[in-house]
Amino acid sequence: MQLLPKLDPYALRTNVRTERRILVVDDEPEPLRAIARILRHAGYTVTTSDDAQTALRGLSRGHFDAVVSDISMPGLDGISLLRGVRGIDPEVPVILLTGVPAIETAMQALDHGAYKYMVKPVNPEQLLEVAARAVRLASLRRGDVEQMPASARLFYPTDGHATMKRALEHLRLVFQPIVRRDGSLFAYEALMRCSMPETVSPDTLIEMATNLNSLKELGRRARGLAAASFSSQQPVDTLFVNIHPTELQDDELLDPQGALLRHARQVVLEITERASVRNISNLQQRMDELRAAGYRIAIDDLGAGYSGLTSFVLLEPDIVKLDMTLVRDVHRQEVKQRLVRSVTKLCAELDITVVAEGVETCEERAVLMDLGCNLFQGYLIARPGAPDRPYFW
Ligand code: C2E
Ligand code: CA
Ligand code: CA
Repeated sequence: MQLLPKLDPYALRTNVRTERRILVVDDEPEPLRAIARILRHAGYTVTTSDDAQTALRGLSRGHFDAVVSDISMPGLDGISLLRGVRGIDPEVPVILLTGVPAIETAMQALDHGAYKYMVKPVNPEQLLEVAARAVRLASLRRGDVEQMPASARLFYPTDGHATMKRALEHLRLVFQPIVRRDGSLFAYEALMRCSMPETVSPDTLIEMATNLNSLKELGRRARGLAAASFSSQQPVDTLFVNIHPTELQDDELLDPQGALLRHARQVVLEITERASVRNISNLQQRMDELRAAGYRIAIDDLGAGYSGLTSFVLLEPDIVKLDMTLVRDVHRQEVKQRLVRSVTKLCAELDITVVAEGVETCEERAVLMDLGCNLFQGYLIARPGAPDRPYFW
């Protein structure tokens, strides 16, 4: 397993302010050592374990901010470990790693609340990014203000709502084209941005809004901005709008006075299962209502470990977006090719359009075309920006 490019431990160490503890579990010594080394270099306090039983005992004795575990292990595997962890510490984020990505394991990971499902060999920068986010989430869940990075602490504890309000005032959208096989424009995806003036990433904003119970306000603001893009100087034709699962419950989506309803036929609602859609009451009825209103539905991030086959059944999507972890280096990895092919085959049978997201190279695009993807999005075509820029196939 290739895990260790050149890292600058000192640069990375500055990212970690106080002790953050991570438990790493893998039965294979080489990746176990490699992952532990990457995390230690970044300043985390790492405890390793080569089997899940011992890991669970360790977890019941000590406090951890995140768990990183391989899925395939003799005895208790990573999914069983995840279930065990949930019994001991319902809050600690668990990052699962697999050498053999499969929709079934991704689904099980989702079922038991895995934080992230990553495909091996893991890119160290990506691992550190995910670990940092997981640790931050653990701090937020525990209300651990001291442990938070400065950007997160802005929101806590007393000025949280004021800062959220400021963030909403500074919210804007950028647009990324989604193109057909021949390179012609099919639609744009709207992505939120916030600089006030310190930049807050969409993921952080959503995390903050979740913790402040402000998801509804954030969603409404973003949808208001999305609606405005239909009547701007450079009006968009079809727009993919990201919807957090809890936003599905907001009646404003179906309110004739609401921002988006009048444009519903031009809107594809992208739903990611980062928070499970299964907790949404009357989901089926709500999906029927949204469809009847003219909205099309897309499953976002398929293959990231959030969305599983259950989403196909629950959401009956018109469009499926392959997560960029499946897209990255797909021309080099046969397992990914097989997985993409099985998704595109299933989707063709169900009359679902497949978007490949995060396409960065011509090689990836060529293979994805061969594998049956219909639409393409990613830096290869254009980075998110204004909707009127030219882009090149
Ligand atoms: P997502 O919906 O999966 O969006 C795709 C992310 O990948 C975006 O990150 C986009 O800028 C980035 N991206 C696009 N092409 C490439 C590529 O070729 N390579 C790489 N490495 N990245 C690429 P961004 O804008 O930071 O958004 C992150 C996440 O935040 C989104 O992931 C989405 O889940 C959430 N988000 C963004 N805007 C909204 C919004 O308005 N509402 C909701 N509910 N969520 C949003
Ligand atoms: Ca999306
Ligand atoms: Ca996505």
